[in-house]
Amino acid sequence: MSLIGCDIVLIKNAWLNGGSVDLRVSDAIQEIGPHLTPAPGESVLDAGGGEVLPGLHDHHIHVFAAAAAYGSLDCDVGSGTVADCRDRLAQRLASATGSDWIRGVAYHEQQLGELDRWALDALCRDRPVRIQHRSGKLWVCNTLGLELLQLNASDQIAGVERDSQGRLNGRIVRNDALIAQRLEATGGGVQPDVQDLSRMLAQLGIVGVTDTSAHNNQQSQKDFDRLRRTGEILQRVELMGDDSLDSGYLKILLDADQLPPLDDLVQRINAARTKGRNVAFHCVSHLELVFALAALADAANPEAGFDRIEHGSVVNDEMALRLASLGMPVITQPGFIYTKGDRYLADLTGSELSDLYRFRGLQDLGVPVIASSDAPYGPVSPWQVISTAANRQTLKGIAVGPAERVSAEQALAGYLTPTSALHRQVSFAEANQVVAGTPADLCILQGKWSEVRDKAERAMVRATLIGGSVAFDSGSEP
Ligand SMILES: [Zn+2]
Repeated sequence: MSLIGCDIVLIKNAWLNGGSVDLRVSDAIQEIGPHLTPAPGESVLDAGGGEVLPGLHDHHIHVFAAAAAYGSLDCDVGSGTVADCRDRLAQRLASATGSDWIRGVAYHEQQLGELDRWALDALCRDRPVRIQHRSGKLWVCNTLGLELLQLNASDQIAGVERDSQGRLNGRIVRNDALIAQRLEATGGGVQPDVQDLSRMLAQLGIVGVTDTSAHNNQQSQKDFDRLRRTGEILQRVELMGDDSLDSGYLKILLDADQLPPLDDLVQRINAARTKGRNVAFHCVSHLELVFALAALADAANPEAGFDRIEHGSVVNDEMALRLASLGMPVITQPGFIYTKGDRYLADLTGSELSDLYRFRGLQDLGVPVIASSDAPYGPVSPWQVISTAANRQTLKGIAVGPAERVSAEQALAGYLTPTSALHRQVSFAEANQVVAGTPADLCILQGKWSEVRDKAERAMVRATLIGGSVAFDSGSEP
């Protein structure tokens, strides 16, 4: 029998704090005891001795992009010469299902060389194609795609690149909003399947997400509210976004190549402060981090203590001490070490490598560090992220920055920490609280944590409850 959607459940035979317990839950945990008797008609979920944890919260994810990515063509074509790689991509494009837009993700110039519309036309000219760089920063369209987006060489639009002769070259930098608007206006926008993504997140034990997309606005807020109401999104959603939002973090995308005037940035921060909002800075380089802290120093309430750094891909000790003094957490993505680490090893040297996606070293200097996914750009599974935080191993099994290893518990603690507590490092013991009276957001593992922790990437979830409702039940028949 499927328990999905059940709202009052007796969980039997769960493992909690080193002992076997039963839990009775409605929207909150009502009762925890050694042997609870099912009330008449009460649904029973047998945890099979699995560890019960608070549900996980992914503090950095892009919900719509992740949903779209799972229905997209993978343009990560492996190693070889550029010509070989382009052949492989041409084959994938030729065998893509459907007849309209092909949406590709995860292209990298080390494999495919620099792409523009003409290079893409050579690979596929009979269907509109748009391909996203693996950084998420850039889209490349073929000629048919550009036509469908109704972009003209005479338009002056931010991020729409031209070649030396003034022709559109198909590259659109950091303007996802433009693509989304044009797709919508021209009927080419296929709504990504958010429902599938949400169910997959539930399967991973995730009960809440923070969508960190910089372009989130009032409309996004309404969309998320609706998707939550209709149950298409099961998880609790926190939103950061642009200047139009009245709550949530203001997300500031810093790009070392195109830093804004400092005064403009300070003004944006101050305007957000007047709404009671805090600020989240996208910082992947040292320069971006220096700039973010300079802006904060000039802005109102620089010691609010609740601003945050996203990624913190490169943080040296000096910057870490400054972050520690401000109580600013780094929301990091150890998963990048796993998926991109082999490329980092080929591209970077010395301190570039040792300062990369630090974890332990930052914590030792007093910076709260929280692991998250950045899906779809990093691996979505918290269990893969936790495993990589503990072993720092790339796909090929080579360690990057082994001094930055933390325990699996420390990495998991971040997923169990509420957003309101990110500004101080919460220990696993403190974060891992399953007690009566708290919301029934639960992740029940298959097996005890002590049995799965050393191979966390293989952790399987027995069931996930969100507000007492069963969002995932591995025992339910398909
Ligand atoms: Zn992100």
